[in-house]
Amino acid sequence: MNKLKIIVAPDTRLNQISKNVISIDKDVKLTLDKMLECMYESNGIGLAAPQVGILKRLVVVDCSDKKNKKKPLKLINPEIVKFSNRLAEFEEGCLSLPTQFALVKRPEQVKINFIDEAGNPCTNTFEGLEATCIQHEIDHLNGKLFVDHISKLKKSIILKKLQKYKKKNQNNV
Ligand code: ZN
Repeated sequence: MNKLKIIVAPDTRLNQISKNVISIDKDVKLTLDKMLECMYESNGIGLAAPQVGILKRLVVVDCSDKKNKKKPLKLINPEIVKFSNRLAEFEEGCLSLPTQFALVKRPEQVKINFIDEAGNPCTNTFEGLEATCIQHEIDHLNGKLFVDHISKLKKSIILKKLQKYKKKNQNNV
């Protein structure tokens, strides 16, 4: 497998709905490892497979604050089954929206069903930054970006900036 490359918005590939993973084979495990590697290299705290052009319901997350104490999470077919009424606001960024940030409100706590790498069905409750991050990544699996949670005006400003960013980066190559 080649090195993964992160797709930058605006790009229609980021608006697709990803498919459930049916069998956890070598390929899926390798993809998860590569995704983690790619996320750490880019200094991200979460990455969803569609961001690297793979339309599968795979997510990796690591919200630990110190790099030497990694706490990687690999989620297969993650699904939110319960969320708190209480909201939390975080300034969100995204590896697919480089240099752009916005305040987003989401449920403070979420209960997630997912399958782990060994194929076991798991249920876990997350809160705080981790909850926000996981919701952000599950959004990616449904073709949604954090800018879909803010005003249309703010969203269009950010997407225009990214269009410029992409042009500039193309010229540098
Ligand atoms: Zn993202």
